[in-house]
Amino acid sequence: MTVTPFWIAGQPETGTTPIEVRHPYDGEVVGTYSHATPDQRERAIAAARDAAEHFAAAPAQVRADACRAASDAIAADAERIASVITAESGKPVQWARAEVGRAVATFGFAAEEARRFGGELQRLDTNAAATGMAALVRRFPIGPVLGITPFNFPLNLVAHKVAPALAVGAPIIVKPAPATPLSALLLGEILSDVGLPDGAVSVLPVPNDEMSAVVADERLPIVSFTGSETVGWSIKDSVPRKQVILELGGNAAALIAPDYDDLGHAADRIALFGNYQGGQSCIAVQRVLVPEEVAGEFLPMLAERVAGLVVGDPRDDRCQVGPVINEDAARRIESWLAEATDHGAVIHCGGTRSGTTVAPTVVSGVDPSVKLATEEVFGPVLIVDTYRDLDEGFAAINRSRFGLQAGVFTRRWDVAARAHRTLDVGGVVIGDVPSVRADQMPYGGNKASGVGREGVASAMLDYTAPRVLVLPDT
Ligand code: NAD
Repeated sequence: MTVTPFWIAGQPETGTTPIEVRHPYDGEVVGTYSHATPDQRERAIAAARDAAEHFAAAPAQVRADACRAASDAIAADAERIASVITAESGKPVQWARAEVGRAVATFGFAAEEARRFGGELQRLDTNAAATGMAALVRRFPIGPVLGITPFNFPLNLVAHKVAPALAVGAPIIVKPAPATPLSALLLGEILSDVGLPDGAVSVLPVPNDEMSAVVADERLPIVSFTGSETVGWSIKDSVPRKQVILELGGNAAALIAPDYDDLGHAADRIALFGNYQGGQSCIAVQRVLVPEEVAGEFLPMLAERVAGLVVGDPRDDRCQVGPVINEDAARRIESWLAEATDHGAVIHCGGTRSGTTVAPTVVSGVDPSVKLATEEVFGPVLIVDTYRDLDEGFAAINRSRFGLQAGVFTRRWDVAARAHRTLDVGGVVIGDVPSVRADQMPYGGNKASGVGREGVASAMLDYTAPRVLVLPDT
C-alpha cells in the first residue's frame, strides 16, 4: 500500500517508517502514513514563520477566494472524503457525510468572514486628554498557529483550525490524531491547490512523545488544541505565555423540565444523540435528568428507542451506531459499566460489548462516586437520574467539573432564561439535546472543558490581536 504523504508548506513529503491505519470496525488496513522527521518538522515551522508577514498582508479577497475554493473542492469530492472518514474513524457513513457538509460550511463561512473582517474607528474625544484624536483599531495575526486535533471529527475539527487561520492570514501547522490522520492529509492535498501562498498550510503527523518541542517552539505563538482534558491542560501549563485555546471533553446533560409534555420527542432525540458515532462526541448526551414523577414513564420509552438503534458496520448506509475507536476504549467503557453495576446501577438496555462495538446502553441508579458519573464516557452510554425541582436539576448539571453545553427540554421562556443565566456551560440548547454545533457560533466550554471559543468568527479573534493607530481628528 502506498504511503499517504503529509504536507510541508503545501508540498507532499513522506517520512521514514510506514504506519498502518486500521478500520476500527474490523481491523482492516485502510491506509498508511508516516511521521515527519525532526528535519521535516523544522522545515515546516521555518516555512510557517517565513510566510507569516507575507500572508498577513495578502488581500482579503485572496484569502476569501482560497477558503471558497477549499469549500467547493471538499463539496466536489464529498463521497470519497466521507468514505475516508468512515474507514479510519469507524463513524457511520451517514454521519461522515454530515461531517463533510460541515467542513464545506466551515470554509464557506471563513470565505465570508475574511471579507468582513475589518476594523473599528473609535472617537477618542470622549476623554479630555485625547481631544482632537481618533483611533483606528485593526486586528493583526499574532503569528503562525499550531493546531492539534482529536480522532472523533478527523476532518471538520481540522477545518475549524485551518479555515479561520486562512481567513485572517495566519500560517498554520496541523498535527492530526494518530488513529485518524488520513482525512487531514486529504485536506492537506486539497489545500495545496486552492491558491494559497507558499508556507500557509502544513499537515504533519508527529509522535505524541515528540510534540513537546513543537508545542514549545517560539515561532508558533498560538496553540489551538482539541482533545482530552489531561493533554490539553498539560499543554497550557507547559507554555503559559502562549495564546492557548483548549476545546476539551465534557459529560453533557439533557434536562427535561417539568413543563415539557412531549416525552416521546425528547426520548427520540436523546436516544440518537447519546449514541451517534458511538457516543464519541464531546457534546453527545451522557447525563439525562428527568423530574422524579416522570421517570417511571420516561425510562422504558428511552430504553426502547435506544435498543432500536441500528448498530453495526459503519459502511452500511442504515448504520446509526458504529464501533468506538479501538478495543481499549471499548474495554474501558465496559469496565466503567461494571464498576457502576457493582455499586448498584441498573442497566435498562445494552451493557454488552463485542470487539470494538459497545451496545447502546441506558443505565440508572448510578452512584455519584463512580467513573460513569464523574468522567467523560465517550461511548454509547446514557445515565438517567432524577431531580425534585429545577433548582436541584440545574445544580446537578453544574456539579460536573465539565461545562461544555447543556440541553433543556422546555417550552417556557422563563425556564429557558433561567437555564441561560444559571448553567455554567459554553452553550444552552432549548427544546433539544446539547449536541448542537453550527459552524458560525461561538463554541467551547467552561471549567475543565477548556478555554477560548472556536467557530470561525471566534477563532479569528483568538488568532489575532488588536493594534491601535491613533490619528489626528481635527
Ligand atoms: P487526545 O487528547 O488523546 O488527543 C488529541 C490530540 O492530541 C491528538 O492529535 C494527539 O496525538 C495529541 N497529543 C497527545 N499527546 C500529546 C502531547 N503530549 N502533546 C501534544 N499533543 C498530544 O484526544 P482524543 O482521544 O483524540 O479525542 C477525544 C477527546 O477530544 C475527548 O475528550 C473529547 O471530548 C475531546 N473533544 C473535544 C471537542 C471540543 O470541541 N470541545 C471536540 C471533539 C473532541
